[in-house]
Amino acid sequence: MPIKILAREVVSKIAAGEVVERPASVVKELVENALDAGATQIAVEAQGGGVSLIRVTDNGSGIPATDVELAFHRYATSKIDALTDLEKISTLGFRGEALPSIATVAEVEILTKADGDAAGTYLYLKNGSVMKREKRSRPQGTTVTVHHLFRNFPARLKFLKSPTTENGHIANLLSQYALAFPEVKFNLVLDGRLILKTPGNGSLRDCVAEVYGLEVARQMLEIDGADQILSAAGLVSPSSLARSSRGYLSFFVNRRWVRSSLLARAAEDAYHGLLMTGKHPIVILNISLSPQEIDVNVHPTKTEVKFRNSQTAYVAVQKSIKKVLVKAPPPEIKTGTPSFTPPPSLWTVKGAETTSLPILRVVGQLASNYIMAEGPEGLYLIDQHAAHERILFEKILSQRSQQKIEIQGLLEPVNIELSPKQEEVLKTKGELLGEFGFNLEPFGVRSYLLRAVPAMMKEGNLAEAVRTLLDSLAAEGEPSKREENIAQSLACHSAVKAGQSLNAEEIRELIKQLEQTNQPRTCPHGRPTMIHLSSHQLDKEFGRTG
Ligand code: ADP
Ligand code: MG
Repeated sequence: MPIKILAREVVSKIAAGEVVERPASVVKELVENALDAGATQIAVEAQGGGVSLIRVTDNGSGIPATDVELAFHRYATSKIDALTDLEKISTLGFRGEALPSIATVAEVEILTKADGDAAGTYLYLKNGSVMKREKRSRPQGTTVTVHHLFRNFPARLKFLKSPTTENGHIANLLSQYALAFPEVKFNLVLDGRLILKTPGNGSLRDCVAEVYGLEVARQMLEIDGADQILSAAGLVSPSSLARSSRGYLSFFVNRRWVRSSLLARAAEDAYHGLLMTGKHPIVILNISLSPQEIDVNVHPTKTEVKFRNSQTAYVAVQKSIKKVLVKAPPPEIKTGTPSFTPPPSLWTVKGAETTSLPILRVVGQLASNYIMAEGPEGLYLIDQHAAHERILFEKILSQRSQQKIEIQGLLEPVNIELSPKQEEVLKTKGELLGEFGFNLEPFGVRSYLLRAVPAMMKEGNLAEAVRTLLDSLAAEGEPSKREENIAQSLACHSAVKAGQSLNAEEIRELIKQLEQTNQPRTCPHGRPTMIHLSSHQLDKEFGRTG
């Protein structure tokens, strides 16, 4: 499309506001223009935090000689035309405001050459007006140089931070675009130093290696999930790799870098319980969906998007991340442990040495409730119910993640009466119960026949167990929490009770299985499964040490 000035009715619909807040905003607009022009190589240079100089060079389509001045008119764009185009924006730019805005707050030089033109066009603009126009040679593409940003705007200059900080913003911005466009070669030089160089070979992992280092790149897990409306693709960190800030969460929507608390929440929720408090994952995720499904005309800097259906986006991101986390091998590899990421614990695990259990020798059972065992580090008192809960909780979640829930049909179906609320929960979330192995059939008014249950469930009051489960599901919560709720409830119902005496073989089996869990030291509710009295403590208590 040739560059045209937008009609007033279109302009009136464009989110108004300032696009140039700081040097990084200039870089952003120029890089977006280069990407929209189909560039495969983009070089960025800045000096003095971008205040002295910013230069962006690309090998994109270039601007035809006839259109170069027009490009500096407010609301002049080649990217949209009619009002309806605003509903299906497929380019990064569309407002026709960047070049004129930059030209009002800085001196600008442009040298550009389009395919059909014999020579390139050079313009020099000051205070928004063209001061010089020349024909100059250059290969196809565009170079925009911005000098003395905000020189005549002291109030704006005062708002800027130190050159180091502004450089940091520029570096981060370019890193984000590099991650969003692995097929483009990016090059960033700040005050003469090469800061970033990406290969442009289309490999996101290679870009990650440049941005976050080889070690991170090697460990990242691939995300590739799609449903009818959107697809999510990218790389995420395994639960063993985390950072102490949210600065490593990168989201792109149709490859536009966006700040989205919704997507950030979805990603962090996928790691719920897998990371220590205060730790955050590394996430690089692009959501692709039809432009009609989103609105990018929310904010002048175009860093926010509104999803037509934000819940779908949330669920898609959370699910697709969770899927790979569950498949990823657990951090410590133990023989006999199913490939399963550790379930959440309310009690922060302080380090690997506190997580896994040493080999224990069973001494006996206390009060039909506690198992007494000896390890290299002293005495262990283990709560048999809590320990068994932990074992079953991990087992059911592991079976669930592999879609291999073991089911037992009941010889005699059990009749269950439900309260209206319980029935409501069953109607809305019953499918999930089905996925865990429950088969409930309507049988009259608020009455159901239970025909099958997960195989691990004990005989006993199954009706009560199902009602308790429905009650625990009643609270609105995140979908991931619901699965945990069910697993917790099942584990609690099926575990050996306190007061149940166990024979030596049963005790040994329990301890062996506990040793194989990912978090043997806490029950699914986060309470401890054991108390440890170290040899040192014992010695102290007996007055053997000074
Ligand atoms: P917008 O990107 O919203 O259209 P801009 O002010 O950023 O508005 O740019 C105005 C127009 O100038 C663009 O629509 C495009 O046609 C042209 N343009 C700007 N930068 C480039 C570039 N690097 N390569 C090719 N064309 C460009
Ligand atoms: Mg633009």
